[in-house]
Amino acid sequence: MKILVADDSNVSRHLLSSMVKKWGYDVVSASDGTQAWEVLRQPDAPRLAVLDWMMPGLTGPQVCEMVRQKGGDAYIYILLLTGRTQREDVIEGMTAGADDYVVKPFDQQELKVRLRAGRRIVELQDELLSAREALLKQATHDALTGLKNRARIREILADQMKTAQQAGSPLGVIMLDLDKFKQVNDVHGHAAGDLVLIAASQRVQNVLDESDAVGRYGGEEFLIVAPKAPDDLAALAERARAAIAAEPVPSGAALLTVTASLGYASYCPKVDAETLLRAADEALYRAKHQGRNRVEPGVLDGCTPP
Ligand code: GH3
Ligand code: MG
Ligand code: MG
Repeated sequence: MKILVADDSNVSRHLLSSMVKKWGYDVVSASDGTQAWEVLRQPDAPRLAVLDWMMPGLTGPQVCEMVRQKGGDAYIYILLLTGRTQREDVIEGMTAGADDYVVKPFDQQELKVRLRAGRRIVELQDELLSAREALLKQATHDALTGLKNRARIREILADQMKTAQQAGSPLGVIMLDLDKFKQVNDVHGHAAGDLVLIAASQRVQNVLDESDAVGRYGGEEFLIVAPKAPDDLAALAERARAAIAAEPVPSGAALLTVTASLGYASYCPKVDAETLLRAADEALYRAKHQGRNRVEPGVLDGCTPP
């Protein structure tokens, strides 16, 4: 684990640095408070810091305050080194945001175990952060394909519709449904079907532009939300169709043919999400009836896209 050692005395800093190095930390050092803050404000800053109290530029407690003000997800555990032992001094340091303090001249073993306590807190916080991230991912993504789930892509559509309405910018949706997918399951089994779903999701993702989003809308149905004018939307739908049909998906010894039918619809002011999606869905079913593996435009009465 990286640790910042900040002390303006060369002797103390070198002594402290070699000590913590011996305990297995990767040392970053600073010779005054300003340098310490420069290090701690970086996104990949050390998560543990030992700061001398009195330093030119900024004092240890001042650096503490700035770190706490900055906030951010990755907590930085700060231990102050102080020659001061007055109760008020200690209160001042802790109020500034320090987690702990050690009085100089300090006992090596004591500093070692106090740093270990700090390290445990940093590690616990990391575990909490990854648990939170995993939960968030679970709540917004589909476990099989890794795509956004239905709720999340609907949320994105609602946001994008707001933007389109306010900015008068173009927006479109594409509904994509795999063709005769039940047969893949029936003939090759559910696991093979899963492989096809995963491959299809990847192929769709590969043809999207940065600002487009795709989600798994149903079993073998996907919804693409793209801030694009009708021509570009149609071109994207065609790219997705071509990418899915480009080659069969290998599953064991078998090669599984996969195609999809698509319908798209362009947003226009005053149209709500349900109406827009219904238009794309109706176009999708037209594509199915006209032989599958094709793209059809949706129709919205009295609508002129921006
Ligand atoms: P069409 O061309 O008209 O869309 O025919 P289809 O067979 O694709 O459509 P249908 O709606 O009859 O069947 C969809 C199948 O998708 C049924 C369901 O078992 C399967 N399915 C849905 N979710 C999953 C999944 O997560 N994994 C697998 N393997 N199959 C799934
Ligand atoms: Mg289908
Ligand atoms: Mg379906």
